[in-house]
Amino acid sequence: MSLTCPSDNSLFKRLFLGMVIFLLGCKGAGSEWQKASVPLIKPGATVQIRVAHATNGRLARMSPEQLQIMLASAQRTVRKELGVHVVFTAVEEIELGRLFARIPSSVQNARIKSIYDFKSGNGDKHKLAQGIHTTLTERGTKLDDAFAFAAPYLPPAHPKDLREFSGLLANVMMERLEQWRHIPARDGAPVLDTSPYNEWIDWDTLGYGELPYDLVITNQLIASAEYVDVDVHSAIRGGLTVGTTTYSRSSPYGSYVFWSTFPFLDNSEHTRSLRGGEQYSAVEAAELSGAYLAHEIGHLLFQFGHPFGQKTCIMNPVSMLRFREWQRQIDSSACPMGSRPEMTIGAVPVYFNAGWLRMSREP
Ligand SMILES: [Zn+2]
Repeated sequence: MSLTCPSDNSLFKRLFLGMVIFLLGCKGAGSEWQKASVPLIKPGATVQIRVAHATNGRLARMSPEQLQIMLASAQRTVRKELGVHVVFTAVEEIELGRLFARIPSSVQNARIKSIYDFKSGNGDKHKLAQGIHTTLTERGTKLDDAFAFAAPYLPPAHPKDLREFSGLLANVMMERLEQWRHIPARDGAPVLDTSPYNEWIDWDTLGYGELPYDLVITNQLIASAEYVDVDVHSAIRGGLTVGTTTYSRSSPYGSYVFWSTFPFLDNSEHTRSLRGGEQYSAVEAAELSGAYLAHEIGHLLFQFGHPFGQKTCIMNPVSMLRFREWQRQIDSSACPMGSRPEMTIGAVPVYFNAGWLRMSREP
């Protein structure tokens, strides 16, 4: 998910970070960062989520039947794990290029410098490591928890602090991001082409435009590197995003979800290896995608954080792409809402940049 500002676990740290944010501005961007309000959703409530399916014709996609299986699975999992009844609207189909045309170009231009340009080889790995370190620090990441979560998927190492850990993550991220470049699309050309559709920053900017959806499902591979907001679970997957919850000016929840079905549908050797060898039928891919989408809906409706490594918690991110293993382990009775700081409503607020919002409204 997008955790665009500090989240933390103790009251003291919250107060301290609050002062830092007040004085310095979140992410060093002055006082332009503001908090979107927390959705007020009571247990047992029924909520509506507006859905689009943004498709890239070059890539495999879920059929309408698979999308229905996926949304039904998300609905069941949200009800069981989070106690809320989600109603999805009919899925609106939109071509990816048309969706991206909704990104306000002024905001896109303002953010382009945050993209690590791996396609041209002009990225700055040192700056990437620094960015990861800033993100982990802002989010109050504990080295022991995060390293225990990532260590099975890293080369042998013993980072002594978050800075060293961040350097290690940056190296692994770049090596693995290269792997995504070798995966071919249906037309034989690489999935990652010159279009910006794979760029997390662009998806993260979409909500500054008029976006009449709370959930955008896409068949696009979203894999990229940024100097901001890179967290552990995404870094070890080579910058691959399954889903993110981020600011949307048009959503009643203050944020929207973008959700890639690529990790569930792709059967390339690289993806299969990140899944620990798991290979899914069409139905299971849809079921698992829906179950894991419930995790993202936990961010959307409750602004929960990530209890890394707490495997019974729906908000524990999947290890690499082992979705079957993830689903087997979740159990709300062992990790109910409110039982941990990360499982507390508003644990990780959604932030937006007021300057970008103004820009997006200028003619
Ligand atoms: Zn998450």
